[in-house]
Amino acid sequence: MNFQNSVHYYQEALQYIVGGVNSPSRSFKAVGGGAPVFMERGKGAYFWDVDGNRYIDYLAAYGPLIHGHGHPHIAKAIGRAAENGLLYGTPTKLEIDFAKMLRSAIPSLEKIRFVNSGTEAVMTTIRVARAFTKRNKIIKFAGCYHGHSDLVLVAAGSGPSTLGIPDSAGIPQSIANEVITVPFNDLGGLAEALQHWGHETAAVLVEPIVGNFGMVPPEPGFLQGVNELTHRYGALVIYDEVITAFRFHYGGAQDLLNVYPDMTALGKIIGGGLPIGAYGGRQEIMEQVAPLGPAYQAGTMAGNPASISAGIACLELLQEAGVYDRMDQLGRMLEEGLLATAKRYGHPVVINRIKGALTLYFGRTEPVRNYDDAQSTDGEQFGRFFKLMLEEGICLAPSKYEAWFVSTAHTEEDIQYTIQAADRAFAKLAD
Ligand code: PLP
Repeated sequence: MNFQNSVHYYQEALQYIVGGVNSPSRSFKAVGGGAPVFMERGKGAYFWDVDGNRYIDYLAAYGPLIHGHGHPHIAKAIGRAAENGLLYGTPTKLEIDFAKMLRSAIPSLEKIRFVNSGTEAVMTTIRVARAFTKRNKIIKFAGCYHGHSDLVLVAAGSGPSTLGIPDSAGIPQSIANEVITVPFNDLGGLAEALQHWGHETAAVLVEPIVGNFGMVPPEPGFLQGVNELTHRYGALVIYDEVITAFRFHYGGAQDLLNVYPDMTALGKIIGGGLPIGAYGGRQEIMEQVAPLGPAYQAGTMAGNPASISAGIACLELLQEAGVYDRMDQLGRMLEEGLLATAKRYGHPVVINRIKGALTLYFGRTEPVRNYDDAQSTDGEQFGRFFKLMLEEGICLAPSKYEAWFVSTAHTEEDIQYTIQAADRAFAKLAD
């Protein structure tokens, strides 16, 4: 495959855009370096790069594109919004329609507010939880990503009862001192942290199904335990459903798993491919938010008609019968095919799959259940596999910690082709 134009554009981008990319996860740093592929257009399950190469897309723009690229129903909704003037800076009926749609799918969202990104959504749930509880500390889980606001870019200290350390330059230690990070799927760690800090803790923040060190489900009883322990100390439970909402079924992971938080942050899929975030929760908590309450949050672009229209159109398509079953079936087919071909060439791998989303980990055969497990997997082998798959016209996310997302646009033929491509890639890896 020829990547000549991508290489050229990358060199040019480096002169103007820091690191050549507008989000670090788009660089190929985690897969051995080189020029990232510059895409030019997409349709359905495919996109094409600036050299004319076609790829089957499992990146799905890191999650939002559950219907693939350029779905006509979503494109029309965006077109209508553009024709109608794009932005008013006033309330619109569309926002009510969408809020109703979200609340009927995720009933714990008694009151909701739209923002522009998952980062904003999570950041604001924390502010509101702090306003409600009048406490400052936050407990989160190692390896979960919650956007790039200061409070959540804090890494674990040396144990559950130690305060965090900044995970990025520019974050003061005083902020990291407000954050405690414990291992996912470890109620003992959470209990220990709460024993030390529970009465100062505003909220425990968790991805109910992890999407950020690969797809990692909660073990039976884990989320129930999180609720029980957290509420015992008068703190709130916040679910970050930026990846999970509408990914596995029509609603949140909370509805799928039947465990409910006090507040929820949303993003990605609910924007149908346009920028969006939303947060919501129990009415008495949400009443902390301005103009009703003392917790301030605002946004010029918040609830903009194009994003809301795209989101409504995206959810309408997800209401069609059988869409989630189909993604589950294709996910299973992909999992079985990948495992069989990896085995044929003797590669130790494991797949964590939840319906149409999966992660293939190298150098490990037991399921990944926390961040330590994910870290211990073989990133170099993944990096080689990633590049071999790219050469085969299969686009994965360039990191061993990301998921492959099946969309409603993928077909059985796409999955079969992907498995054949993986077979060739695994054969080369074994050489
Ligand atoms: N929360 C989770 C679980 C995410 O995966 C992400 C992004 O990947 C975010 C929050 C941040 O969302 P955004 O990139 O829209 O700011």
